[in-house]
Amino acid sequence: MQIEDLSGLPDGVTEHFVSAGIEELYPPQAAAVEAGVLSGESVVASVPTASGKTLIAQLGMLSAIHETDGMALYIVPLRALASEKAAEFEAFEQFGLDVAVSTGNYEEDGDWLGNADVVVATSEKVDSLIRNGADWIDDLACVVADEVHLVDDRGRGPTLEVTLAKLRSRVPNLQVVALSATIGNADEIADWLEAELVDSDWRPIELRTGVHYGDALHLDDGSTTELPTGSQDQTEALVADTIAADGSALVFVNSRRNAEAAARRLGEVTESALSAADREALQEVADEIRAVSDTETSEDLAAAVEQGAAFHHAGLARGHRTLVEDAFRERLIRAVSATPTLAAGVNTPSRRVVVRDWRRYDGSTGGMAPLSTLEVHQMFGRAGRPGRDPHGEAVLLAKSHDELEELFDRYVYADPEPVRSKLAAEPALRSHVLSTVATGFVHSHEGLLEFLGETLYASQTDDPSRLEAVTEDVLEYLDRNDFLVRENGDLRATPAGHLVSQLYLDPMSAAIIIDGLRAGEGSPSPLGLYHLVSRTPDMYELYLKSGDESTYTEIAYERERELLGQTPSEFAEGEFEDWLSALKTAKLLEDWAEELDEDRIAERYGVGPGDIRGKVETAEWLLQAAERLAGELEISSASAIREARIRVEHGIRADLLDLVGIRHVGRKRARRLREAGFETREDLRQADPGRVLAALSGRQKTTEKVLASAGHPNPDLDGVEADEDTPSSQH
Ligand code: ADP
Repeated sequence: MQIEDLSGLPDGVTEHFVSAGIEELYPPQAAAVEAGVLSGESVVASVPTASGKTLIAQLGMLSAIHETDGMALYIVPLRALASEKAAEFEAFEQFGLDVAVSTGNYEEDGDWLGNADVVVATSEKVDSLIRNGADWIDDLACVVADEVHLVDDRGRGPTLEVTLAKLRSRVPNLQVVALSATIGNADEIADWLEAELVDSDWRPIELRTGVHYGDALHLDDGSTTELPTGSQDQTEALVADTIAADGSALVFVNSRRNAEAAARRLGEVTESALSAADREALQEVADEIRAVSDTETSEDLAAAVEQGAAFHHAGLARGHRTLVEDAFRERLIRAVSATPTLAAGVNTPSRRVVVRDWRRYDGSTGGMAPLSTLEVHQMFGRAGRPGRDPHGEAVLLAKSHDELEELFDRYVYADPEPVRSKLAAEPALRSHVLSTVATGFVHSHEGLLEFLGETLYASQTDDPSRLEAVTEDVLEYLDRNDFLVRENGDLRATPAGHLVSQLYLDPMSAAIIIDGLRAGEGSPSPLGLYHLVSRTPDMYELYLKSGDESTYTEIAYERERELLGQTPSEFAEGEFEDWLSALKTAKLLEDWAEELDEDRIAERYGVGPGDIRGKVETAEWLLQAAERLAGELEISSASAIREARIRVEHGIRADLLDLVGIRHVGRKRARRLREAGFETREDLRQADPGRVLAALSGRQKTTEKVLASAGHPNPDLDGVEADEDTPSSQH
């Protein structure tokens, strides 16, 4: 099927695809068109990685917008992918379409999004927009669920599932385009969504899979090729072999630390293949990486890149990730070691994929657990660049003959596991039941069960009483915590319950925060508040490493009076440990708010800069929520909470609170200004510009912006000299 023969698309779109090299539809894309994706039909496309799912989604969205004048919504699985997807769709702006990304804070209705034609957001964000009354939802004509097999994910799956159910129940005739990896039971997802199924294992480039063991590579077609390791380990030998044949390699490992360590060793392999021109180009990339941030991770990454290798994981800053992905696609970087989180979504094909670790640490058991077949197949799918490589090759590594056989059975010959809904679990339902009642989707117990009957869970289960039982427990919990009232089968959210739903809090987080604030009413310390929000299920944990337990036990007793609520007994093992790991997070936040360097923090807590940002953002959000809850419930701690929040938001001590309120003044500039004797906005408004210029190291543009933001009557610095007498001119 030729792309230029398609109808129902905005003018110019088919020409655009052709000029981008897409002339003929791939078979699964043609099947989606035949199934009606261009005429409003819902479609589930279960198709291998890198086989053109995005185009299927684009055809659905563009035709829906064109034919109905409605909007399209593209749901991404990770926040980090939202802007990348939006950038892909921005090409359509030439056809008059507006693309908007909705990330950022919860608790807004996102009214401005109503002017867009395509909105890109995570399922959590969409859920939150619905909770906050976004009207434009009613204008949707098409919704795309990318990586829909993630409904199986214990943590985030239920949100995707409930969000799709809500969108479908609210918007009649909504077209749903659900994209899935190849799974065995895509038909069940299609039944649930009342969609046509496109189920295909076609790939644009042949994929060979197998296992390396000893000195040979054993492939699924039964062939065995010699591939001796010599003095190298298996990974290095496989990467060296790929590079010798002018290919590139992607190595999947099970942790960030391992990704970083592997990149160091891969650098030694890739370096020998570099030409002088490569080195020069890589040097430029390395310099750009160093310019993104001045941290140890940044330096390690830049050093690997200089040698032609890199690591890639979710702890990297976004700027770092993009630089690595682009340089890998251009084949400047020849080998990347990555964690599985990023196997999905990032379009970085390479000739050979090496799945080095097939087990990873499992927090719930404290041991190592095998990756699912589905995950490993998705990593496999990154092998082979159509038009560039003769074929793709994906390889696991075995250390023994038994392991060789196990890996063939488990991953090479096996089908992926069926996708199962994870909705019938209390933590998931707590939040979704409350929001379903609070947003007025349902008003009664009966209505609630009817709505839950529209979920994938209900369509898959043989035992509907299980969902009813969990729902009953959840209603009881919400009632006990005064978030919801039950009267003769009617359900109503209390004002606090409404607020919790809008704030996008897990009701259990809200209950912990409310109890803690009541216990420490008055002026809780920042550490007490950071600890309180770190105890909630909405803050992901920092694990305690060896030695941490005694360190934090000591701090817990030293600063017990600041911690809100009763310290659990040391004998209550799990509880006490949770208390300590929350304290570890709280100390990280306190260090940040005490202006400790990012690098020092990263080292002290064994985390990357991306993790610090993540913790800070979560703390900001939870403290904002705490402030709102304190207001609603008349608990008199609001100003202490606000101060703790602003301090953690900017990473500043209390004496800079006023200065960071000025635009263009961050933690470092504020400290310089403070050292030069400026304490408040008012001081700056009346300042001698020369002194401010000196405090800001003679940077004229910056100083002008800062003075203007502070309301200085004459911020223009032409002809002004930095005043050399001020102490901070040494900076
Ligand atoms: P998926 O979402 O299935 O992982 P993508 O949609 O990212 O895969 O597609 C992988 C690559 O294939 C992209 O670079 C895309 O431009 C290209 N592609 C998609 N469809 C076609 C086609 N019909 N002809 C040529 N290239 C295509």
